Amino acid sequence: MTHPISKSRWYLKKAARKGLAISTWASNRLAAAEDGPRVRVLTYHRFGNSARDPFCVAPGDFQTQMRYLAENELAVSLDDLEGFLAGERDLHNGAILVTVDDGFRSVYTEMLPVLRQYAIPAVAYLTPGLIGDRSEYLTWNEVARLADAGMAIGSHGWTHRSLGRMGPSEARDEAVRSREMLQQRLGRPVTSFAYPYGTLADFNDTTAGILTAAGYTTAFTSQHSAIAKNADPIELPRVKVEGGEGQWMFRLLCRGAMDGWRFVDLALWRFQHAGG
Ligand SMILES: [Zn+2]
Repeated sequence: MTHPISKSRWYLKKAARKGLAISTWASNRLAAAEDGPRVRVLTYHRFGNSARDPFCVAPGDFQTQMRYLAENELAVSLDDLEGFLAGERDLHNGAILVTVDDGFRSVYTEMLPVLRQYAIPAVAYLTPGLIGDRSEYLTWNEVARLADAGMAIGSHGWTHRSLGRMGPSEARDEAVRSREMLQQRLGRPVTSFAYPYGTLADFNDTTAGILTAAGYTTAFTSQHSAIAKNADPIELPRVKVEGGEGQWMFRLLCRGAMDGWRFVDLALWRFQHAGG
């Protein structure tokens, strides 16, 4: 599901991300949106000190990032975002929701202590079929502690396979089974979903209908963009935070510097199936 990438690909991609961030910043496109506030949802995966693994963020970097959100009062909860989309709650422009996919153990060992330290709300998207399966994944006991600590829990499918690449009945099974298991284990409603991989090949109108029928009210893709009030709640974009990038890059992507990466999402989705 995650693995280090080659040195040349790593530097090429980092150069592309930085180039986009700097050009967006330089062209002054980070100004407040005129047609209402924009909210961004950050995607994390794992925490640790792996070299050249874009899915792994160093714990020290994560701490600096969460301190920035806290000091600037940027962090909002999934409830806040759902209220915003329903037209029931105002959020300030530039508000940030933190999410983490896949249910790796470092969510409990590295992420949770930092979230608690800075009182940052977050959502963990889990694949119940993999919980406790191997040592790198969370156990149910750890999942319960995340929920007790105030983290929202959503579904990331049953087996972390692409809903868009399977038949409707199988996709329905992934959506329903994962939700039922999480609700049974946690004793609370689960109404948010994150599409495994989240590229254009991994969701469509059929999967949106399946998720809605299964009881989900929000679903996130991996398409890069900001969220406006009128966004489709079952096809919401996010912004991926990668390992090995400076704090300046984090600040810029919080302010919209990576929103333009959606054109890469649109052009290169066939090659983006390596992680997520
Ligand atoms: Zn994933």
